Amino acid sequence: MNLLDGKKCADSLVADIARKVAGYVESGLRKPHMTVILVGEHAPSESYVKSKIKSCEKAGFEGALLRFPETVTEEELLAKIREINANPATDGLIVQLPLPPHINPQKIINAIDPDKDIDGFHPTNFGKMTLGQKAFRPATAYGICKLLQFYEIPVWGKHCVVIGRSNIVGKPISIMLANDFDIGNATVTLTHIETPRELLLDETRRADIIIVAVGIPGFVTDDMVKEGAVVIDVGINRLDDGKIVGDVDFENVKGKCSWITPVPGGVGRMTVAALMLNTLMAYQNNFNLD
Ligand code: NAD
Repeated sequence: MNLLDGKKCADSLVADIARKVAGYVESGLRKPHMTVILVGEHAPSESYVKSKIKSCEKAGFEGALLRFPETVTEEELLAKIREINANPATDGLIVQLPLPPHINPQKIINAIDPDKDIDGFHPTNFGKMTLGQKAFRPATAYGICKLLQFYEIPVWGKHCVVIGRSNIVGKPISIMLANDFDIGNATVTLTHIETPRELLLDETRRADIIIVAVGIPGFVTDDMVKEGAVVIDVGINRLDDGKIVGDVDFENVKGKCSWITPVPGGVGRMTVAALMLNTLMAYQNNFNLD
């Protein structure tokens, strides 16, 4: 078993970005700028936002965190998004999810300028990505592709089973791996909560690559995995004792895998690195850079 080390890969990607940014700044350009909007006091969101801002510093970006109380209205949030959309000094904008129940997340996402939508959740970017056009790709899915690429894991022609169909992970990664992108051309099966258990087992047991994003600790067990498979664990689940675990029964599954991501230190790190790549792309688009 080999570990797909998200920290190592993310550090390498961010160091590359920092080198490029240093060159741009030396030539007289301003730094890339990312704004993150955080509503309320959701503990996991606090920690995700913190790691995004920290990664901005490492990449040589400016990162701004805008906090709103839980009671902020949808209209107040939309007004702030319109203001940031119109500000040429901001390249990328993230609204950290989840939002309080009185705010419609799709309405918020749809209000972000697609050219600043570094999360890649806006329908314009999602549509372009689906069509195989240049777009901001949803960060977690993009990060998984970058991790596979970094470790030179063969994807072309492989049978990949994705478990979970969320708009932020399962759906985009299944589309991206099936597309003929730089990392892609796999044969993908997308499974979800309505997939009959027997069918799910049939699929995972013959999968070359399993990607799981369900949010259930230990969901993928060793009897579901073929000898030599690659297992990508997207899950981030906090147990009662405070320990963070993924969706894979790591201790029992690892022995059967050729490659597996740890949690933490796997996909989570790559999500943040992919956001930095998207922000760099937004900045390069703004200044017509390569
Ligand atoms: P979600 O929570 O929105 O939905 C869960 C998905 O799992 C659904 O599509 C559902 O159909 C599927 N599912 C549930 N039970 C199932 C079953 N028995 N069989 C098959 N499919 C089943 O999904 P999400 O937002 O993608 O989050 C999933 C997990 O990934 C969570 O633990 C979340 O914290 C984590 N996550 C991690 C990152 C990261 O950067 N590592 C990013 C996003 C989400």
